[in-house]
Amino acid sequence: MERKTGFNTKLLHDKTSLGFAQREILPPISQVNAFRYESAEELERVFQHKSAGFAYTRVGNPTVAAFERRINELEGGVDAVAASSGMAAITAALLTVAQSGDEIIAGTGLYGGTIDLFRDFEKLGIRVVYARETSEQTIKRLITDKTRAVFAELVGNPSLAVLDVPRVSEAAHASGVPLFVDSTTATPYLAKPLELGADVVIHSTSKYVNGGGNSIGGIVVDGGKFPWDFKKHVALKDFSKYGKLAFSVRLRTDLWENFGGCMAPTNAFLSYIGADTLGLRMERICRNAEKLARALASTPGVEVNYPTLPGAPYEELAKRELGGRGGGILAFRVGSKERAFKILNSLKFAMIASNIGDLRTLVIHPASTLFLHSSQETREAAGAFDDAIRVSVGIEDVDDLIDDFVEAVKANR
Ligand SMILES: *Cc1c(COP(=O)(O)O)cnc(C)c1O
Repeated sequence: MERKTGFNTKLLHDKTSLGFAQREILPPISQVNAFRYESAEELERVFQHKSAGFAYTRVGNPTVAAFERRINELEGGVDAVAASSGMAAITAALLTVAQSGDEIIAGTGLYGGTIDLFRDFEKLGIRVVYARETSEQTIKRLITDKTRAVFAELVGNPSLAVLDVPRVSEAAHASGVPLFVDSTTATPYLAKPLELGADVVIHSTSKYVNGGGNSIGGIVVDGGKFPWDFKKHVALKDFSKYGKLAFSVRLRTDLWENFGGCMAPTNAFLSYIGADTLGLRMERICRNAEKLARALASTPGVEVNYPTLPGAPYEELAKRELGGRGGGILAFRVGSKERAFKILNSLKFAMIASNIGDLRTLVIHPASTLFLHSSQETREAAGAFDDAIRVSVGIEDVDDLIDDFVEAVKANR
């Protein structure tokens, strides 16, 4: 049997660079708004999509296209559309299939910003139905003839619940509904949602894909396998001639383009070179996170949540879907909000900041920040308890991190 090329080799030698005009190894930054043509006829053909070419950066740009091709290859999709942020990517993806009168089923424990966005969807006439637990049975029960998508996070943040993608996608597919997965925290290194059964994958590339905390971005990847029924998926009806590609064609040429949420070329470049080290970073980050989780778990007075800790509720799923790794985020409860704040304030290395997926270890009290606008029920479902601290583990030397956290916990009893 032929041996499969490893993740890092495949990523660093992906086919993306073959298309660069001057044989550059990295994509040149096309920091321009427009592209000039020799004749009016030529530009007409580009606008008609009859010949390949770029016209205007909101609609397409070579640096952005290079980044899209790269993530598309990593995820194994048919097309990927990069957006100005993760939120822009989620908006464009869902509004491509759902319109006024339609319903979306949302998984439990979503990112706070997504929950805020879904309140805006309600005002546009799109009903968002929250599942109490993102299980096969619950999804089956909630699907109606108005459901246009199930949306869930592969690894909840900060709940760290792992989605059973094969089972949930099967339940959705049985009713002709696609599964959209926000895989930001799982990263293309840990999980392959399209292979597991998801239909559309979304990342906030601001996080682990970029990895250096230097540019906001998002991306939508279409698996291209979902058999759209255009009587049901009326939002895609005008694109029915594209069959299974109807979603990606509408996304790129209609909604995302018209909403104007394009990724900036320089951000695409930064995220492209950031992704070069995705495998290396994730390996180190997961090892650090696991060691820190274990050290904290053996410190009295804290309760740690990390997917691969022995006896953790999602240990089995983490084995099956994340290759036995737990990702870069851990959460721990310390008894009270007051103590959580004291611990946060006495950390030396870990920075108090609202982000994840940086090279540096970042900490936050989710309940008073990311979930400020959420109800108590929503907070608890997301694991944003009043006494919980979220840690986005970085690549520092792990002993320094362990000392930092254990000392802060012990000093604030
Ligand atoms: C950060 C994040 C988003 C939003 O992404 P932005 O790039 O900040 O717009 C969406 N989903 C998850 C899971 C995230 O962590």
